[in-house]
Amino acid sequence: DALSPADYIRSHIRTVPHWPAPGVMFRDITPLLANPRVFRVLIDQFVHRYFDVKPAAIAGLDARGFIIGSVVAYELNVGFVPIRKKGKLPFTTVEETYELEYGSATVEMHTDAVKPGDRVVLIDDLIATGGTMMAGKKLLERLGAEVIEGAAIVDLPELGGSNKLRDAGLPLFTLVNFA
Ligand code: AMP
Repeated sequence: DALSPADYIRSHIRTVPHWPAPGVMFRDITPLLANPRVFRVLIDQFVHRYFDVKPAAIAGLDARGFIIGSVVAYELNVGFVPIRKKGKLPFTTVEETYELEYGSATVEMHTDAVKPGDRVVLIDDLIATGGTMMAGKKLLERLGAEVIEGAAIVDLPELGGSNKLRDAGLPLFTLVNFA
């Protein structure tokens, strides 16, 4: 009870070493989702942050950004936009390809998901290299939306992604850092 919301949230993130590859410290949010008290504390952090901002929509990144983002959108009474891994969306899409440590990844969004001038908050669970969130920002901007902030539960600042995103003009809101 003496824990701050951020430390309470942090204490429910499980670290799985060397998954999915040697050297990766995977920050697993499933214990956080499974606990209704800490899940509510988590969601409330984002809802309070954006309650007065009145974004046009919340955009969530596949797949854990959907879990957080859709609940936040529901609480704010705004729409939810999924940015999906390639090949999942049925209507016309815009897509963005970005480099991973090994190979590349492509994300897609429906062309009618946002309108020019929409002010959108972009949500994922975690920022590592920042490539995923940068791709989402580019898709939203290509459709004329303004990404007012990127939000995530976890930042891994040593990987440089959050700095890169800020340098690209994206304000960030993150709750927990891991070295
Ligand atoms: P990046 O594009 O490098 O910023 O990676 C962020 C995306 O990959 C997010 O969607 C995360 O869910 C996932 N991810 C990357 N690294 C980790 C990690 N160490 N633990 C958990 N998820 C990760």
